[in-house]
Amino acid sequence: MNYKKLISAISDELKVLEDKGKVASYIPELKKIDPGKFGLHIATVDNKSYGLGDYNEKFSIQSISKVLALTLAFKIDDNKLWDRVDVEPSGTPFNSMIQLEYEKGIPRNPLINAGALVLCDVLVSHLKNPREEFIEFLRNISGDPNIDYCYKIFESEKQTGFRNAALINLMKSFGNIKNKIETVLDFYYHLCSIEMSCKELSQVFLYLAAKGVHPATKIEVVSPSKSKRINAIMQLCGFYDEAGEFAFTVGLPGKSGVGGGIVAIHPGEFSIAVWSPRLNKKGNSYKGMRILEFLTSKTESSIF
Ligand code: GLN
Repeated sequence: MNYKKLISAISDELKVLEDKGKVASYIPELKKIDPGKFGLHIATVDNKSYGLGDYNEKFSIQSISKVLALTLAFKIDDNKLWDRVDVEPSGTPFNSMIQLEYEKGIPRNPLINAGALVLCDVLVSHLKNPREEFIEFLRNISGDPNIDYCYKIFESEKQTGFRNAALINLMKSFGNIKNKIETVLDFYYHLCSIEMSCKELSQVFLYLAAKGVHPATKIEVVSPSKSKRINAIMQLCGFYDEAGEFAFTVGLPGKSGVGGGIVAIHPGEFSIAVWSPRLNKKGNSYKGMRILEFLTSKTESSIF
C-alpha cells in the first residue's frame, strides 16, 4: 500500500467531508475540547509511521483503554476470565443496564462498561499497585514513558459516574465483583482518563496487528491465540450497538471511545488511530468512522 498517497487522499477527502454530531458532555471535562480537532496516524508492522493533522496531540482515550485492560486481564487470568464475562455483542449502548439484570450480573462482553468493570476487578485482585502497574504495562509495550493518566478527567468522571456506580453495584449483588466497589471504580476511572496522541495509540496497539508481539519493542504482549481472540472481540463488540455498522462500512476490528478516538487493526499490516471529538448518536466519532470507511474502501483493505 502506498501510505503517503493514502494520507494525501484522506487530506483531500477531509476538505469535503461534513462533520456532524456532538462532543460528549456527560463527563463535564470532555466538553472543553475543541470539536474541530482532527488527527490520524498509521503505524505499520514494519515500523513505518504516517500522520495527518493533530496526530501528536494527546486526548482522552476513554473506552479504548478497555482493550488494553482486556489484554492484561486475559494474560493474567487466562480462560477463567470467561466465567465472569461473555464474548457476545451486546446490541445495547455502552452503559446500558438492561441485559445485566436478566443475565444475572454477567456482562455481555469486556468492552462495554459493565464488562470493563469486571476486568478492573480481576486486575485489582491480581496486581499489588494496579494504577502504577497498569500504566507501566502500557509504557513497556510501547517503549514510551510519557503515557499517563489525566487527573482532571479522572475527577470529573468520578463526580458524575452514577451509571457506572449502578452497574458495579448490580454486579456485586450477583457476586461478580470480588473487591471493594470504591477501589474497583477508582481504578476504572483511572483507565478511562488515560491520554494518548493518535501516534502513541497506533503504536501501542501494533501488537494486535502482529500476533501479539510488538514489532518495535519485540515484547510478546500476549500469545498469538490471545491476540486473535482480542481482535475477534473488538470486531464484534468494539462499537457497542454500532458494531455491525462498523464491520459493514469499515471492516476492521476496532474500538472507539467517547473522547472521539477510534483505533482499528489490520492484522499483518497496520494499526490506525483517528481522533475527531464530535460523536454520532451511538457515542462513536462521526468523522472517525467516515474516514476509516473511506480508507478501507479506497485501499480495499477491509479484512473481508
Ligand atoms: N468513561 C466512559 C464511561 O464510563 C467511557 C465510555 C466510552 O468511552 N464509551 O462512561
